[in-house]
Amino acid sequence: MAYVVTDACTKDFVCVAECATAAIAPQATDAAAATVSQVYINPDECIDCGNCASVCPSGAIYVADELPADKAELAAKNQAYFQ
Ligand code: SF4
Repeated sequence: MAYVVTDACTKDFVCVAECATAAIAPQATDAAAATVSQVYINPDECIDCGNCASVCPSGAIYVADELPADKAELAAKNQAYFQ
């Protein structure tokens, strides 16, 4: 299980700073930050602490098994970003 960033993300990068395991990318200073439409969580690095979801001003982050049905595909998209 891991948390998942959905397409409601507005790239404010608040969550990136809160993640203890650096599981969220890209960071605001990365070149990729300008080209992606949202940030992503690496499910292999996420420890399910929930910090990111609690600080997200857009409510864009869900634990994977609580994703709304219309955003279910975002779990695979988050994982794919790191492959
Ligand atoms: S749940 Fe915790 S470890 Fe996982 S991405 Fe969010 S802040 Fe990082």
